[in-house]
Amino acid sequence: MQHRELLRFQHFIDGADHPPASGEYFETQSPYSGESWGLVARGDASDADAAVGAARRAFESGAWSRMTATERGGLLFKLAELLRRNAAKLAAIEMRDNGKLAGEVTSQVRYVAEYFQYYAGLADKVQSHVIPTDKKGVTCFTRYEAKGVVVIITPWNSPLTLTSWKLAPALAAGCTVVIKPSEYTSPSAVVFAQLFKEAGFPDGVVNVVTGFGNEVGGALVEHPDVAHVGFTGGEAAGTAIYQMAAKGLKTVTLELGGKSPNIVFDDADLDQAVKGVVAGIFAAAGQTCIAGSRLLVQRSIHDEFVERLVALVRGAKLGDPEDPATRIGPIATRPQFEKILAYIDIARSEGAICALGGNPRKDLGAGWFVEPTIFTGVRNDMRIAQEEVFGPVLSVIPFEDEADAIRIANDVLYGLAAGVWTRSLHRGMLMSERLRAGTVWINNYRQTSFTTPFGGYKRSGIGRESGTDAILEYLETKSVWISTDLDVPNPFVKQ
Ligand code: NAD
Repeated sequence: MQHRELLRFQHFIDGADHPPASGEYFETQSPYSGESWGLVARGDASDADAAVGAARRAFESGAWSRMTATERGGLLFKLAELLRRNAAKLAAIEMRDNGKLAGEVTSQVRYVAEYFQYYAGLADKVQSHVIPTDKKGVTCFTRYEAKGVVVIITPWNSPLTLTSWKLAPALAAGCTVVIKPSEYTSPSAVVFAQLFKEAGFPDGVVNVVTGFGNEVGGALVEHPDVAHVGFTGGEAAGTAIYQMAAKGLKTVTLELGGKSPNIVFDDADLDQAVKGVVAGIFAAAGQTCIAGSRLLVQRSIHDEFVERLVALVRGAKLGDPEDPATRIGPIATRPQFEKILAYIDIARSEGAICALGGNPRKDLGAGWFVEPTIFTGVRNDMRIAQEEVFGPVLSVIPFEDEADAIRIANDVLYGLAAGVWTRSLHRGMLMSERLRAGTVWINNYRQTSFTTPFGGYKRSGIGRESGTDAILEYLETKSVWISTDLDVPNPFVKQ
C-alpha cells in the first residue's frame, strides 16, 4: 500500500529501533480529525520472539541482574527526571492519538514521573524476613527475587499511565519487560522507551513491540520465556490472556472493566455531589475503567438531582482537545464510537428515558463525537445498567435506603470502584465496608495515586497495582534454610 508522508514508529528492541520482520506497517489516526498521522510497525510472532529474547538476555546478563536495588532505583530516578523534561512531547503524542483533553493528558504524563520516583525509592526497601522456625538447628530466611521477563499489554485510554502502573514496579523489582501497547495508541510507548536508553538502562531491559492483539499480543503471552503478564483492557481479551497464561502456568495481573456505582444520598452536599458525578462519567468522555456509569440516587432527591446534573452538563463544550475551553473530547477509536451509539440504541429499546444527549455530533468535523448522554428510568437489570459502555453515557437508577443502595450497587458482575456522597460518617463507613469494589470514594471520585492499591473485585480483575504491595506481583519468594547443626539427622525419617 502507498502511504502519504507519515511519521514512522518501529519496535524498540534491545536498545534500538527495530523494523517489523514482516516489513508491514499500519496507520494510526487522530480521533479529532479522523486523519492518519503515523505508521506503526505491525508486529508478529518473530518480533515477539526477538523482544522476549532481548529481555531474557538482559535479565540473565550481569548488567541488570547484578545491579544492586539501589542502583536500579537510581536509574528509575533519572528516568523520572527525563519524563518530566519530555512530558509535553509525550502528552502531545497521546493527545493526537487518543483525543484526551490537553490539560488532562499533560497532567497525566507528568504524574507518570511521580510513579517512577515512588518505585525508585521503593526499589531498595523491599525487605525479606528471618523466620523463627519450629525446626531445631537451622536458620531460615526469605529472599525476594525478580520473576524474570514480564509482558505488559495496555489499552488505548490512558496509554503511558497504565503502562507505568506495571512498568515502574516491575523494573524496581529487577524484572525486564516487553510492552505491547494498544494498536490504537502505540507511538507514545515507542518514544517513551527511548528515554530508558537515555537514562542509562542496559539494552534489552525495556522493549516495545507494536501491533495487534491476535498477531503479536498472544505470541508474547504464550512465549515460554515469559514469567508474568500484566494486562489492562477489556474482559474478552483479559479472559483470553488468562487462559493462554494458564497453559504456561504464568502469573498474571488483570485490570479489566467496570460498571461502577456513584451513590448519592439525600443528606449529601448536592453541589459537590453533582460535580463528582459529572467528573465520574463525563471526564475523558467516559472512556475510563473507573467511570461512575451507574448513578444511584435516593428517590427523595431524584428529580432535583437529575435537573442539576443536566444543567451542568448541557453547557459543556465538545470539540478540539487542544482548546482549553473544551470539556469533552472525541471518542478515541471508530469501533468504540460505534459501540457507544449501539448502547444508546439498546438503552432506548429497553425503555430508558433519554434526559440529555443521545446522538453523535456530526457538526464537529470528521472526528468521533458523542453527546454527553443521561438516561433516567433505568432498572438495574437492563443491559445499559449491567454492561460496560466505556463512553459518556450515564444510567440513573433510583433507590430507597442504604440497604437498597447496597443491593443495587453490588448487583453487577464488576467490582472496580464505587462512589458515595453523604454527610454521615457512619453511613460512609458502612458503605465502604459493604460495597464489593476495589476502590471506594466517599465524597470524592476518580482519585488514584501511586501510593494506593488499585484493582478489581469480581470480573474487574486479578491483583493490585500501585502502592508498596504492587512490587510483590513481580517478585518470587525464596526460602533459604541454613543448617547451624552440622549433624544431618536420620536420612530415612523426616524430622
Ligand atoms: P482491549 O481488551 O480490546 O485491548 C487491550 C489490549 O489487549 C490491546 O493492546 C490489545 O491489542 C490487546 N489484546 C487484545 N486481544 C488480545 C489477545 N487475544 N492476546 C493478547 N493481547 C490482546 O481493550 P481496549 O478496547 O483497548 O480498552 C478498553 C478496555 O480496557 C475497557 O474494557 C476498560 O474497562 C479497560 N480498562 C481497564 C482499566 C483498569 O485499570 N481496570 C483501565 C483502563 C481500561
